[in-house]
Amino acid sequence: MNNTEGRQKNFLEELIEADLQAGKYADGIITRFPPEPNGYLHIGHAKSICLNFGLARTYGGKTNLRFDDTNPVKEDVEYVNSIKDDIRWLGFEWAQELYSSDYFEQLYQWAELLITKGLAYVDDQTQEEIRLNRGTVTQPGKESPWRNRSVEENLDLFRRMRAGEFADGQRVLRAKIDMAHPNMLMRDPLMYRIIHAHHHRTGDKWCIYPMYDYAHGQCDSIENITHSICTLEFDVHRPLYDWFIEQLGIYPSHQHEFARLNISYTMMSKRKLLQLVQEGVVMGWDDPRMPTICGLRRRGYTPESVRAFAEKVGVAKRDNVIDISLLEFCLREDLNRRAHRRMAVLNPLKVVITNYPEGQTEELEAVNNPEDASYGTRMVPFSREIYIEREDFMEDAPKKFFRLAPGREVRLRYAYLVTCTEVIKDAQGNITELHCTYDPTTRGGNAPDGRRVQGTIHWVSAQHAKPAEVRLFDRLFSVPDPNDVPEGQDWRQNINPESLRTTKAMLEPSLAEAQVGDRFQFERMGYFCVDPDTTTNQMVINRVATLKDTWAKISSK
Ligand code: ATP
Ligand code: MG
Repeated sequence: MNNTEGRQKNFLEELIEADLQAGKYADGIITRFPPEPNGYLHIGHAKSICLNFGLARTYGGKTNLRFDDTNPVKEDVEYVNSIKDDIRWLGFEWAQELYSSDYFEQLYQWAELLITKGLAYVDDQTQEEIRLNRGTVTQPGKESPWRNRSVEENLDLFRRMRAGEFADGQRVLRAKIDMAHPNMLMRDPLMYRIIHAHHHRTGDKWCIYPMYDYAHGQCDSIENITHSICTLEFDVHRPLYDWFIEQLGIYPSHQHEFARLNISYTMMSKRKLLQLVQEGVVMGWDDPRMPTICGLRRRGYTPESVRAFAEKVGVAKRDNVIDISLLEFCLREDLNRRAHRRMAVLNPLKVVITNYPEGQTEELEAVNNPEDASYGTRMVPFSREIYIEREDFMEDAPKKFFRLAPGREVRLRYAYLVTCTEVIKDAQGNITELHCTYDPTTRGGNAPDGRRVQGTIHWVSAQHAKPAEVRLFDRLFSVPDPNDVPEGQDWRQNINPESLRTTKAMLEPSLAEAQVGDRFQFERMGYFCVDPDTTTNQMVINRVATLKDTWAKISSK
């Protein structure tokens, strides 16, 4: 399968094709997705997943899932399981499930090897001293007084670090490279630190843990990863990635960087997303407003639409911000093709059809998907009392209002032409009900005399309607870049206070059988999905997206 057809190849595809043509990687390429199990995956991770798994799929290779679990303090199995669920939901399956912690012994042995080669040493400086002695971009660093310890002393101290003889922070292992190196990361970077903490997989076996820079490349190498793809901010780490691999003489994995995904009106910092959850701003990690994969899934996004989005975004070499409407566009494109149509009234206004026989019900045929005849039709009950959308009636309607107004005729979708004859109000003047008459010769919606009726509105038979709570979501943040706040101010001021509105809707009765996760297009209203909060007594439905992009207009005003 080749998914690059019909568009220009990105730089990674070009690189891989050149490698393959040069006869490299005869056994196929190997990529990896390396999440740290310290939070839920978000749409940015989805981009990385689609890229890594997608490249392997295109070029007949494989992808490992490697949990980068080198920091015992922040990690948890809860996250491991959610990450696996999310990747499978996106439609990918990994070749192997692996953990950086599986390689702790190997990494340790390699660290001893580097010590033996005079390329690593135990440093007794405090964290603060190390930081101060690193120098600056314009000034070289200062060598540690412990830099020239003998191999024997280093080995002895490192083994005692492992054995648990020292307290957290008392000593570290550093690579011995160059304290004057123009790349600050090459100034004797930390390899190991002491952390007396319980690890979710290795338990209390270890009290020293490798740093990202020492672990990542070596783990890639152990797995014979051919293309180690990461985000742009790691480009300064690449010399170090290469240095360790070269000094150890192990399989040469190569790191390649691409621009991380940023989307307007949202943010992807795990720390801030956690804060939203902890402070109850949202209902949880899977709140349908969250940019997390489980949030998008609960909202009603399809894996196909998320994959299409990742593909459309492409692979850039420079940072950029993608408009969130592109994600919504991909959803609409997918569901327009695939979703069953139903009628639902979100803001109901009762209409009595005064000349329709009391107690009569008839079943009218409705099309399930005008885009695809194979979806067939269904029967929708019609009776004397119906609900229509409050917005579909206007008392003093302008000429161009092609919906219902006093004395005007409108088409009820799949049913009849009706004319409004009376507006009923309560003591405060609020409209409580409309009276209409229908034309019995217009069943199906067309007048035999050929008179033209422009407007068509949706409706639900009142006696058959199924009530439901519908959750109308809006953007979680009211500004394009929610991270952009003036010095000293709180990013939370950018939270959109109206990101969730609920309404009591009336659904056509066939929706009673809908299952959690089922998605529909409610005619004229948008795309909707049954929420897991649904109980036997109360159906809860999420609006995934409106039919058209309404924000483009509002925000450009
Ligand atoms: P942390 O701050 O915890 O490291 P992270 O977002 O980098 O957060 P990881 O679990 O380390 O999370 O990420 C796993 C992989 O997903 C990495 O390869 C990372 O480059 C990639 N990734 C994370 N965020 C994005 C993003 N916004 N766009 C593209 N790729 C991303
Ligand atoms: Mg990371």
